[in-house]
Amino acid sequence: MSASINPFEMAQFQFDKVADQLKLDPSVRDYLRWPMREFHFRIPVRMDDGSMKNFQGYRVQHNDSRGPCKGGLRFHPAETVDSVRALATWMTWKCAVVDIPLGGSKGGVIVDPSTLSNGEKERLVRGWVQQMWKNIGPRLDVPAPDVGTTPQMMGWMMDEYSKLAGEYTPGVITGKPVGGGGSLGRTEATGYGVIYTVREAMQHLGMDGKKSRAAIQGFGNVAQYSAIAFREMLGGEVVCVSYWDRDDRQSYTVSKEKDFDPVFLQSITDQYGSINKQKAKDAGYAIEDAGAWISKDVDVLIPAALEGQINIETVQSISSRVKIIAEGANGPTTPDADEVIKAKGIFMIPDFLCNSGGVTVSYFESVQNDMNYYWPKQEVLQKEDHILTSAFHAVLEMSLNEKVYMRDAAYMVAIARVVKAMQLRGWI
Ligand code: NAD
Repeated sequence: MSASINPFEMAQFQFDKVADQLKLDPSVRDYLRWPMREFHFRIPVRMDDGSMKNFQGYRVQHNDSRGPCKGGLRFHPAETVDSVRALATWMTWKCAVVDIPLGGSKGGVIVDPSTLSNGEKERLVRGWVQQMWKNIGPRLDVPAPDVGTTPQMMGWMMDEYSKLAGEYTPGVITGKPVGGGGSLGRTEATGYGVIYTVREAMQHLGMDGKKSRAAIQGFGNVAQYSAIAFREMLGGEVVCVSYWDRDDRQSYTVSKEKDFDPVFLQSITDQYGSINKQKAKDAGYAIEDAGAWISKDVDVLIPAALEGQINIETVQSISSRVKIIAEGANGPTTPDADEVIKAKGIFMIPDFLCNSGGVTVSYFESVQNDMNYYWPKQEVLQKEDHILTSAFHAVLEMSLNEKVYMRDAAYMVAIARVVKAMQLRGWI
């Protein structure tokens, strides 16, 4: 999130716009603009050198009318209560738009995790759980990994909660390692989900996947599996990805017009930590500047790295061939660029619909934990496809019926579902 924009004000602004369109009652609007509950606490941690250090922790539960809250835990030096509030609010809308029975929450700790040893990280996440355990749980609020936290940390958190609760409780946390209560398919879930929604958009627009080309920004978890699925599921060509080069400390676009192979690039990323330029060049890839991905002559653009990448400066370089933008990343498009995209008539698949495959499979993880019975990977991915396809069509129908942009339609579907749950529970 750009430092100049207060993310929570942005989340409230987006909500207000749709609340106007939905003519929400002022008291309902007031309720949903703010989180239901917030926890602010200090976490004392014994450091490796024997000293004690205090860290600032947060958990924000925005709304649990549709089910237990769900949301990641971020470790970041620039974390603020407002970034946690915004992300918690967006989780409410994300769970509602895919119609999984969960609410929205987020947690954070102000810390740069790269400065901590493994032992310090373990003591910090266990300390977070000691502060929060009475207010999280499979029926209350279920954290997950996010920026700066890992599956291993989720394993430690699950262990700490289980000790405090006095019983093995894997469903308190998702994003656990496979074999430690995690779900098969979680690694692929977000990228594959992006492509399930692209497939439905192509069908709606009468496009042929096999004749389509895509340009992708990023080459992390979401981008890699989006690229693989674009080729394998749709039969299309990926022509480039971009990435942050660890050695040069800058980003590049890696492109190839024919026979682009994301599995090969993934293998060199696993080996070298990021794409190795020389290995890529040897295999016939061109290395271009970081911004080259956005102006490629393609049918589909998939920003899957950072926020704010399609902005008023970059949006004009989008080729007239582009018909679909699929937002794999969170918040890749700024509101002023949205206006240009609308005017160009490009079909937008908004972030909280497009990248919701991750939270959907996290929900499946808690369901499997509850049953203590685990599904094969294919079953997980089929169930994910079913949920995302239904969500896509609910949003498309809203967009066509109300003649609104897909992003606004997604908000309208999500907010209407949350309001209905609040009504059914007699809260409003
Ligand atoms: P990641 O850390 O695995 O990958 C990020 C990628 O972006 C890396 O390839 C990195 O090299 C690249 N990158 C960084 N700076 C760049 C730059 N300046 N130019 C080009 N590339 C750059 O992260 P991820 O999990 O793939 O997440 C990507 C986005 O998707 C984020 O916005 C995240 O919030 C969102 N998201 C992720 C998930 C998930 O399940 N992983 C779910 C929903 C949303």
